[in-house]
Amino acid sequence: MTTLEVRNPATGELITTLPATSAAEVARAAGRARLVHESGIWSQAPPRERAAVLLRLADLMERDAEILARLDSEDAGKPITECRTGDVPGAIESMRWFAEAADKVFGRVAPTGPGHLGVITREPVGVVAAILPWNYPLAMTAWKVGPALAAGNCLLAKPAEATPRSALHLACLAEEAGLPTGVLTVLPGHGEVAGAALARDPVVGALSFTGSTATGRVVLAEAARTNFKRVSLEMGGKSPQVLMADALDFGDDLIDDMVDAAFLTAGQNCTAGSRVLVHQEIADELLVRFVAAARALVIGDPAEPETRIGPLISHDARSRVATAVEEARATGARVHAADLPEDLHPGGAYYPPTVVTDVPVEARLLTSELFGPVVSVQTFATEEEAIRMANATEYGLAASVWTRDLDVAWRLARGVQAGVVSVNSYSEGDITTPFGGWKQSGFGGAEKSTTAFDQWTREKTVWIRTR
Ligand code: NAD
Repeated sequence: MTTLEVRNPATGELITTLPATSAAEVARAAGRARLVHESGIWSQAPPRERAAVLLRLADLMERDAEILARLDSEDAGKPITECRTGDVPGAIESMRWFAEAADKVFGRVAPTGPGHLGVITREPVGVVAAILPWNYPLAMTAWKVGPALAAGNCLLAKPAEATPRSALHLACLAEEAGLPTGVLTVLPGHGEVAGAALARDPVVGALSFTGSTATGRVVLAEAARTNFKRVSLEMGGKSPQVLMADALDFGDDLIDDMVDAAFLTAGQNCTAGSRVLVHQEIADELLVRFVAAARALVIGDPAEPETRIGPLISHDARSRVATAVEEARATGARVHAADLPEDLHPGGAYYPPTVVTDVPVEARLLTSELFGPVVSVQTFATEEEAIRMANATEYGLAASVWTRDLDVAWRLARGVQAGVVSVNSYSEGDITTPFGGWKQSGFGGAEKSTTAFDQWTREKTVWIRTR
C-alpha cells in the first residue's frame, strides 16, 4: 500500500508508479494547510486577487488542454475525443466561472427593526477536502477546486487510485499561476488509507466526496466518528430516460441523445441513462433504431479520435457487468449486444454496448448501478406508470423526459425523483445550474452554480446594536 500503480485500461500496461500518501502524511498536510489558512495569505486575500490567480490557472489549463486530455484518456481509458471536447473544456469553463464568481457571492442583511443590524457573512470553512472518482478525473476535480479556492479555503484533494495524473498536473499549473504553496495539495493515495484519513481528520472542516454510494456511506460514518465535518456526497445513479408516445417525432436527435446518455465513457457515468422507459406504442420501432445505433458505435483504442467506446476501467469491472447481464439472460431477458472488433488489445477490459429487454423486475440489472455500457428497455402504458417505474430505484441523480406536450413534460419532470431532470435532451444543465442527487445519489449540497459555494462556506450572523 505504499505505492500506486497507474495502468492504461486499454492495454493493462503500467504507465507509472507513484508513492501513495500515508495516513500520517495526510495529517501533516492538513496541519500545514491549517497554518497557511491561518496566515491569511489566501483566506484574507481580496476576492478579486483570488479570482485573478484562478483565472490564470484556467488560462494555463487551456494552454495544456491536450496534455490534460491525454492524461485522463490514458489513465481512465476514456476516448480521447470525449476528453478533448467534453471533460477538459468543461473543467476549464468551470474553473473560469468559479474564479469570476469569487467576488460575486454576497452575504445578507436581516430585516431588523431600528436599533439593530443583523449582518450575515459567508466565510471560508478553512481546511477542506475533496475525494474524487476515476471516471471524470479532471472535470470533477475542477468542480471542487474552483469554488473551494474561490471561497478562500485551503483544499486537500485525493484523486482516485487509477487516475491521479491530471490532478497532479493541475497542482503544478496552480503553482505556476501563483497560488500560494499549501492552498491546494493533491494527495494521490489509496481510498482506505489516504481517503479514510481525510474523512477522519480533525482539522478538515468540510469534505466533498464524489464516488460510489457504498464508499459515501463509509466516508459519512468516519466523519461522524470524529469531528462531524460537513460532508457532501455525490454518489451513484440508475437514471431513467422516459420516452412518451410522441418521442420518435424528435428523430435522430432522440436516438443520438439516448446513445450518449447510455454509452458515454462506456456507460461509466454517474448520470448514465441506464434505464429506458418507453411508451408501448413506439417500443418496437424505438428498439430497432436504438439497437442499430448502439451497434454502430466505434469500439476501440481510446487514443484514436474516432473511438466512441473504450475499455472498462478494469477486468473486475468487466466481469461485474458481464455477470449481471448473464444473470438477467438466465432469467429470461433478451440481450442485444454489439460485436467487439477482433483486433482489440487483449489487455483491455472491453465490453460491447448492450441493450437488454424483457428483464424480470427483480433482476439486479434494473436496480444496481452497473457502471458499464448496458441499458435496459422497459415499456409502460400510462404517464402514472412511467413515473412509478422511473422512481423504482434507491437512486435519484438524473432523468430525461421526451415529449412535445409541455403539460406532460412538466408533470413528469415534477413527478420524477431526481436532482436533475432534462426535457427533450440528455443533459446535466450547464455550469450555471446546480447538480446534485436525491435519495441515495446525494446528500449535503450540490456542485456547480453559486449553490456550490454552500459546500465550501459557512454563514456567520453578526448582530450589532446600533444607537
Ligand atoms: P469509489 O467509491 O470506488 O471511489 C471514489 C473515491 O473514494 C476514490 O478516490 C477512492 O480512493 C475513495 N475511497 C475508497 N474507499 C474509501 C474509504 N474507505 N474512505 C475514503 N475514501 C475512499 O468510486 P469510483 O469507482 O472511483 O467512481 C465511480 C462511482 O462514482 C460511481 O458510483 C459513480 O456513479 C460515482 N460518481 C458520481 C458522480 C456524481 O456527481 N454524483 C460523479 C462521478 C462518479
